[in-house]
Amino acid sequence: MEERYQPHAIEAKWQRIWAQNQAFRVHEDAAKHKYYVLEMFPYPSGRIHMGHVRNYSIGDVVARYKRMRGFNVLHPMGWDAFGLPAENAAIERGVHPEIWTQENILYMKNQLQRMGLSYDWEREIATCEPEYYRWNQWIFLQFFKKGLAYKRSSFVNWCPSCETVLANEQVIDGACWRCDSAVIQKELEQWFFRITDYAEQLLGDLEKLSGWPDKVLTMQRHWIGKSTGAEIDFPLLGSENALRIFTTRPDTIFGATFVSLAVEHPLALKLAQGTPQEKTVEAFVERFKNVSQAKRGAEEGEKEGVFTGAYCRNLFSGENIPIYLANFVLMEYGTGAVMAVPAHDQRDFEFAKKYGLPIRIVIQPNDRKLTAETMAEAYVDDGVMVDSGAFTGTPNGAGKDKIATYAEEKGWGNKAIRYRLRDWGVSRQRYWGTPIPIIYCDKCGTVPVPEEQLPVVLPKDVPFTGKGGSPLQESKLFFEVACPKCNGHARRETDTMDTFVDSSWYFLRYVSARFDKAPFDPEKGRYWMAVDQYIGGVEHAVLHLLYARFFTKALRDLELAKVDEPFSNLLTQGMVSKETYRCSEHGWLFPTELLGSEKDGWQCPQCRRPVIKGRVEKMSKSKKNIVDPEDLVNLYGADTARLFTLFAAPPEKDLEWSDQGVEGAYRFLTRLWRIVFQNRELWTNAAANGEALELPAELRDLRRMIHRTVKKVSDDIENRFHFNTAVAAIMELLNALSAALQGGARSSVGATVIKQGLETMIVLLTPFVPHLASELWEQTGHHDRLDEVPWPRYSEEAIEEEKLLIVVQVNGKVRGKITVPADATQEHIETDALADPRVQGFLDGKKVQRVVYVPRRLVNIVVEG
Ligand SMILES: [Zn+2]
Ligand SMILES: [Zn+2]
Ligand SMILES: [Zn+2]
Repeated sequence: MEERYQPHAIEAKWQRIWAQNQAFRVHEDAAKHKYYVLEMFPYPSGRIHMGHVRNYSIGDVVARYKRMRGFNVLHPMGWDAFGLPAENAAIERGVHPEIWTQENILYMKNQLQRMGLSYDWEREIATCEPEYYRWNQWIFLQFFKKGLAYKRSSFVNWCPSCETVLANEQVIDGACWRCDSAVIQKELEQWFFRITDYAEQLLGDLEKLSGWPDKVLTMQRHWIGKSTGAEIDFPLLGSENALRIFTTRPDTIFGATFVSLAVEHPLALKLAQGTPQEKTVEAFVERFKNVSQAKRGAEEGEKEGVFTGAYCRNLFSGENIPIYLANFVLMEYGTGAVMAVPAHDQRDFEFAKKYGLPIRIVIQPNDRKLTAETMAEAYVDDGVMVDSGAFTGTPNGAGKDKIATYAEEKGWGNKAIRYRLRDWGVSRQRYWGTPIPIIYCDKCGTVPVPEEQLPVVLPKDVPFTGKGGSPLQESKLFFEVACPKCNGHARRETDTMDTFVDSSWYFLRYVSARFDKAPFDPEKGRYWMAVDQYIGGVEHAVLHLLYARFFTKALRDLELAKVDEPFSNLLTQGMVSKETYRCSEHGWLFPTELLGSEKDGWQCPQCRRPVIKGRVEKMSKSKKNIVDPEDLVNLYGADTARLFTLFAAPPEKDLEWSDQGVEGAYRFLTRLWRIVFQNRELWTNAAANGEALELPAELRDLRRMIHRTVKKVSDDIENRFHFNTAVAAIMELLNALSAALQGGARSSVGATVIKQGLETMIVLLTPFVPHLASELWEQTGHHDRLDEVPWPRYSEEAIEEEKLLIVVQVNGKVRGKITVPADATQEHIETDALADPRVQGFLDGKKVQRVVYVPRRLVNIVVEG
């Protein structure tokens, strides 16, 4: 055994052994319980970052632990490989997206392998490969057949100067990322997935996800945004037609004093035609139609509007009320028309105040009386309906249903449920994504590509200029096709799919990654699904996780998947953050480029101004506070990197980077190595089994601590993922073993218990620092591979505390007896002795002068007088 801990040699050795033995290869085995643990797969951006290291270390602890517990563990890894950065690299540097992506994958795979992560690499997938994305296309076609994929026009971000569609992340403060022109909204024909068909199931099944964090469930619930209410008609004056509005507050309908329309509402311009308002309305529509919906819908935005010149009738109050356009009403929600009740809706209240519209109170609170003249804000809480015709006096909660029912009886409207969830627009005018398998023929219309012609493969010879529409529009070889139906001249769809499609079912692909008859083998899916533990960032709480749930349900309805929900348990790990440094003139600075010192203050290397030590923030390139995991691994090894990220914080909390923390992790591993090295003769001298031996008291305590540590580490991993406290317990055990060694516990029984303690520690550390643990295991004479050793057991009996009976004296006379745990501290025992009620009687409020403690036997309390 080497005297020094040499992480790099050890890590390379064990990674080689694991690869040669295919140690993490897994097959379906009906005799074993399966466990599927999955970390969200990375985008191959070039290098792994500390967030990846953290996410994957957490997953690897779970995978290795479950394997040691006898589970058949599926732990795969792959690449979310389509996406914008590859295309941007092509535009900026002329590298083909495919080459850029494949190089990044190779580099990052090597980095992951250096972390010693226990993946079954045979199942590796990359979503940019035709073997993968052909199944995106196949699923698209099944959705198309079922009406779950459809086309309609919708608005996109458009740069008029580059003449191209921009993704939301390419719009920086309303301007194009490339040329800084103002971005406008343009209407385009786009493909959608009808996720709204599943709104009710996606909402209802959240109840099944007891293994998900509450905050994620809440975010999904909010995103789906179910509201119950009524649709009610407001007949237009001088017309046969009516405006149909949706409201969640039918109880306030008698207070509706105007109606507000979205600027995109089909009637917006028509209503004003021929009225004196026509020009003003046109200008208003022109002004707001290019402002994004998100910006207009924001709570804090200025409410603006314009009168259309037209009126409609509130059938309940019998009044004719004006119709306005309002910037905050969105076409995407409801019907693009809302009844405005200023007394009971804050936005309508502000709007009415601004434009001098009537405020009519129709709900009065139970404890006071509102007046319209003195109201400072809308009253939105419950109360009793007033000035509401036959409904006056009804509690407003019951009034909601009564009004809706009345509207139904009268034929004025109906009860209705609305969702905030919109259908999912999947068309992207980009190259680096899955081609949409559709062909347009002048004669036959929209024709799906026949399944046997899949995959529709991306062409290679495409120019990347960043101008114009999808680069695929430049490739005649790609888009000029024969119609599959009439064989006539036809044109292929040149849009590609949103990359969220790729990640909506990749967890299913892993169950049979090379299967070529369907997206996955249903039999294997039945064995492995659902994912038992999914781990990833909370930034995916809504879109990715919602889309994955939708796909799972849709594939279930296609009789492929057998589960309702893809992920039984979800862990959202916190961010990795670090302090930042900033010059008022030159912005963010790397800590390594600062002049000066912590003590005397830092200075900017360019202007020598004092540098402000900024907040601790999420590691990011722009804030110059990143640590490259590769540097960390080069310096200390992968085990230290793993141990630091696992020990520094519980997984769901943010982890603040600390150099001392890293050094501490390394020191602990070095110390463990040294202690094993210095005591290596234990493995030749000590008796095999310490459990059978009669032990003196202090060794009984040590043995109890070993069992307790096994229990604590098992519970912390199993039930709570509290890896930090698990590691802390292992560190305490090392301290106790080290103290026992220094205390000369080298009798043969002592050696046996200490050896047992060290071996248990090595096994417990395996999920955290697998290389070091494996090497120590081998160095201490074991011939089995540690990753195949079962997780240690503990015995409740051994943990059961021994009790000591302690005699308590007051001024030398026996006054009581107390029972304490055998390993209770002196302080603990003295406190118990003083608190004993019988002893208290003899103390009688007198001042305690001192306490004498005779270990394990007696406490004498000396009081004055
Ligand atoms: Zn531009
Ligand atoms: Zn045709
Ligand atoms: Zn400066």
